Amino acid sequence: MPDGAPDLKPRTLRDPASLIKAGLVPPEAGPALRRVSERFAMAITPAVQALIDRDDPADPIARQYVPDAAELVTLPDERSDPTSDAPFTPVKGVVHRYPDRALLKPLLACPVYCRFCFRREVVGPDGGLLSEAELDHALDWFAATPQVREAILTGGDPLMLSPRRLAHILSRLSAIPHIDVIRLHSRVPVAAPDRISRDLLAALSTDKAVFLCVHANHEREFSAAAKAALRALCQAGITLLGQSVLLRGVNDSSQALENLFRSMLASQVKPYYLHQLDRAPGTARFEVPIAEGLAILRALRGRISGLAWPTYVLDLPQGAGKAPLGPDFARSATDEWVIEGPLDGSSHHYPHVINDFG
Ligand SMILES: *Cc1c(COP(=O)(O)O)cnc(C)c1O
Ligand code: SF4
Repeated sequence: MPDGAPDLKPRTLRDPASLIKAGLVPPEAGPALRRVSERFAMAITPAVQALIDRDDPADPIARQYVPDAAELVTLPDERSDPTSDAPFTPVKGVVHRYPDRALLKPLLACPVYCRFCFRREVVGPDGGLLSEAELDHALDWFAATPQVREAILTGGDPLMLSPRRLAHILSRLSAIPHIDVIRLHSRVPVAAPDRISRDLLAALSTDKAVFLCVHANHEREFSAAAKAALRALCQAGITLLGQSVLLRGVNDSSQALENLFRSMLASQVKPYYLHQLDRAPGTARFEVPIAEGLAILRALRGRISGLAWPTYVLDLPQGAGKAPLGPDFARSATDEWVIEGPLDGSSHHYPHVINDFG
């Protein structure tokens, strides 16, 4: 395109040069960001570009997606596979850690690449797509593993698959008698809502229970297009859940979380998990200490609908599972529980037992 000609058709920005051209980073950031981009994928879709407030240097949308030189610094506690997927992989593309459910990762591409992603060392636009044979082998594993009642499609982002491939996966899973639930985790409804097409909705149609867990971290991600995509998914009979990561500078206040969870509910998305940040390389600028996360949530209890309340979890290293972190309102004393009233912080005494029956 000739210099100075306006680029009328927005595109997904995938490299530092295009970020500079779009005015999202200053030209002097180029050399450092080129080093970041050699290591971690970047992508900012037109839908996300439209949400960024370029006049706000601390914009909570830009912060999630625009790369930063700080990503070049890896702290000693940061791990490339913080949730230890690798040792729990019985066949390529499957992670089986809990008895009754397993992950299927058919691809590693995402619509956007979040700068705090816990799989940032493996996700990217090229690579990770299972071959037909590998995918069939992974689906055979589900068919041969009767204790697994739930297949969780993740990646990468499963809604980046073609409707044809997604339909193939859903029909194979639907044909397995012991699979009751098919769950998908996706950023697409907020980051690339135009992908939620009639064909994609048709691909998700099955008589199994389908849950879609939408990853969103800020109220502004619920654009008009995102809301329309979520409504279409809901009307297709899919139960919508929300998952968020507690992120410094994005949603690290009671007010920001309240707004986020209210936006979810208004789109019929039930907040499911609020994740403590996983310690992936170069993500320390997003960390909110657990004590602060607990205090932020404690201030929200009683203020927002119970429907809006997610479980705050930490995915433990070494594959030990996701542990709920609280906040706790009950503490055990000698012969009673002392329980804090969520509305006013008052203390309530609740005897351990009030009978002698045993
Ligand atoms: C997070 C995760 C799940 C899903 O856990 P839920 O608590 O059911 O949401 C399943 N398998 C693996 C390996 C996971 O990391
Ligand atoms: S969409 Fe999910 S998997 Fe993809 S980069 Fe963001 S956090 Fe990582």
